[in-house]
Amino acid sequence: MSLELSKRHEWVMQSEIRNMSIECDRVRGINLSQGVCDTEVPLVVRIGARQAMDAGINTYTHYAGMMELREAIAGKQKQFYGMVVDPENEIIVSGGATGALYCACLALLNPGDEVILFEPFYGYHIQTLVATQAVPVYVRMKHPGWTFSLEDLERVVTPRTRGIMINTPANPSGKVFSKAELDLLAAFAKKHDLFVFTDEIYEHFLYGDCRHIPPATLPGMKERTITISGFSKTFSITGWRIGYCICDPRWSTAIGFFSDLVYVCAPAPLQAGVAKGVRELDIEYYKNLSTLYRVKRDKVCDALTKAKLRPYVPEGAYYILADISGLPGENSKERAMYLLQKTGVACVPGEAFYHDDSGEDLARFCYAKDDPILEEACKRIESLRL
Ligand code: PMP
Repeated sequence: MSLELSKRHEWVMQSEIRNMSIECDRVRGINLSQGVCDTEVPLVVRIGARQAMDAGINTYTHYAGMMELREAIAGKQKQFYGMVVDPENEIIVSGGATGALYCACLALLNPGDEVILFEPFYGYHIQTLVATQAVPVYVRMKHPGWTFSLEDLERVVTPRTRGIMINTPANPSGKVFSKAELDLLAAFAKKHDLFVFTDEIYEHFLYGDCRHIPPATLPGMKERTITISGFSKTFSITGWRIGYCICDPRWSTAIGFFSDLVYVCAPAPLQAGVAKGVRELDIEYYKNLSTLYRVKRDKVCDALTKAKLRPYVPEGAYYILADISGLPGENSKERAMYLLQKTGVACVPGEAFYHDDSGEDLARFCYAKDDPILEEACKRIESLRL
């Protein structure tokens, strides 16, 4: 027997987002492919982390996270969504939302268990399922509106289905699931006795009249729902790795033990900084965030429209899927590379968000960038107008 990589590594290796970032660096381009926000971290969050470090809060925390952060998260859920959460038993602070999902899958899914996901999807969701030996099953959302039906869900459910994955507001589509859609999903989950994994990392990035509804707040959904979110996006701290999972005490201890096993805890002083931010930032902060990102969204949508790359205008999150079928190339990768070579702007080819060859006409543009960078990117995209 020779040394070789595991079978599961193949899935984890393919990341178009990583590839496009490398290509972008090669040409010193503007990277609108990766969801890294370079907007400012709130001062109170930075001060909180600094103070904690100076005060000696630098050792391991409880595996479920510092109580002051868990209490702050419970307070936020109550304030924004009227969701009552017990900080002692129902919250696990994690190494980002990514860590929370990984640990939840390890704790709740057996090899071969099927989980339904909506397409276009966020690649990490698939890769996390595959790495933990679960099996992704796809329901395709149709644009405009990224809609789906109950029949679409019933068609893919089998006796092995154990969960359904929701991402609202969604990456890459920008879809915000409506109350009617969530009611339908809740009824479906109850009928088939499924876990609902819900990634709500973009909960504060909402445009127009859209409202974020955590599925856990719907009647009868608390026990089966695993709510995942974090502060990477809300506080522009993707490198701090502070996320969390909220769920019933039946599941939280095991999820916490996996969290302990994989990385022990989230960084202690950074947990303290985030706790201070959650406690002290008022509603205006969150409103401003939406306003700020709405302006960025409109700017990029406008540039894409002018370049005849029709944008599917997002209702939430900070990505735009655009129709790039007018660009030369055989597939979305070639079209995205053409755009990079012509303009120095990197986007993610649409095929990264589908399990088959769909997405060939699409590309994703991230607008979580400082305004001067975004303006330069827009100028370059508009220059494509022939
Ligand atoms: N979920 C979604 C849908 C995302 O788009 C991202 C970032 N790209 C994450 C999770 C990652 O969150 P975190 O930094 O908290 O791990």
